[in-house]
Amino acid sequence: MRILVVDDEPLSRHVLQAAVEQLGHQWTAAENGQAAWQCFNQDRPDVLITDLLMPEVDGLELCRRVRADTRAGYTYIILVTVLGERQDIVRGMDAGADDYLIKPVQLFDLQARLIAAQRVTDLHAELDRHRAELAHLARHDPLTGLGNRRSLDEDLEVLHARSQRYGRRFALAMCDIDRFKAYNDAHGHQAGDQALRAVAATIAQELRGGDSVYRYGGEEFLLVLPEQTPDTALVAVERVRSAVQRLAIPQPAAGPGGTLTLSAGIAAFDPDEAPTAEQLLQRADAALYRAKAAGRNQLALADSPAR
Ligand code: GH3
Ligand code: MG
Ligand code: MG
Repeated sequence: MRILVVDDEPLSRHVLQAAVEQLGHQWTAAENGQAAWQCFNQDRPDVLITDLLMPEVDGLELCRRVRADTRAGYTYIILVTVLGERQDIVRGMDAGADDYLIKPVQLFDLQARLIAAQRVTDLHAELDRHRAELAHLARHDPLTGLGNRRSLDEDLEVLHARSQRYGRRFALAMCDIDRFKAYNDAHGHQAGDQALRAVAATIAQELRGGDSVYRYGGEEFLLVLPEQTPDTALVAVERVRSAVQRLAIPQPAAGPGGTLTLSAGIAAFDPDEAPTAEQLLQRADAALYRAKAAGRNQLALADSPAR
């Protein structure tokens, strides 16, 4: 483990350093609380072994600061003090310390404490991994790996608020795979899933930085295009449409030699009119419906509202 040793008395510090090293751990040392706080912020050690009584930033204050840090990862804190100041240990534990040692520190005692520290920091690392995994699952669609409906709602709210506030534009494109039910019927659901993954990856690949794509529903994808006007959005979405066509996934419902295609409806946010995100989604959806009615494998732009 990486261990930070803090003590203002050089002798105690050296004894601790030597013990930590003898037990096979890496160490850094600080000669007061202020220096320790800097080391902590730089290195985020696995274990902090700190003297309780130090001038200015003491062991208690150090515990509080370390525990107030909200970054991932856990630093296990062991307080070290002399027998006479034992009553301060409880305050230290209340402030966030995990364990304590009484000076002079015995190698055996330190070894036992560090075994517990290893166990606790391992558990915290595992917890952090699970947390990150859950956070990812909550925002992504497992089949395609794209952002899901929830992440779309959150991201769109942020973009909408920002665009409204700063008078910026953006565009949405609701894309829907053409006759996908027929594709499933012809090739089976597994192949359907495979096709959805391929289409999702192609859309993501065609977008440029700043643009994003979400899985909106079954075979529907929503593109979010910041800073785009209806005209520039048309160009971007046309690139996506044609890339999907070039995948050349056989689609029986499109006639002999036909391939899987998608249609899209585009709606743009004009800060002068300032439609709600909900209105934009409805407009994109209505435009998509027109693209479908006009024969599919094409784009349609939402009507500008009468003003
Ligand atoms: P249209 O051109 O009008 O969009 O016709 P469509 O057949 O694509 O539309 P419809 O809404 O009737 O059918 C959508 C199909 O998408 C039906 C459903 O089985 C399929 N689908 C939705 N989600 C998934 C999925 O996760 N995997 C697979 N394989 N199919 C899916
Ligand atoms: Mg469809
Ligand atoms: Mg659909």
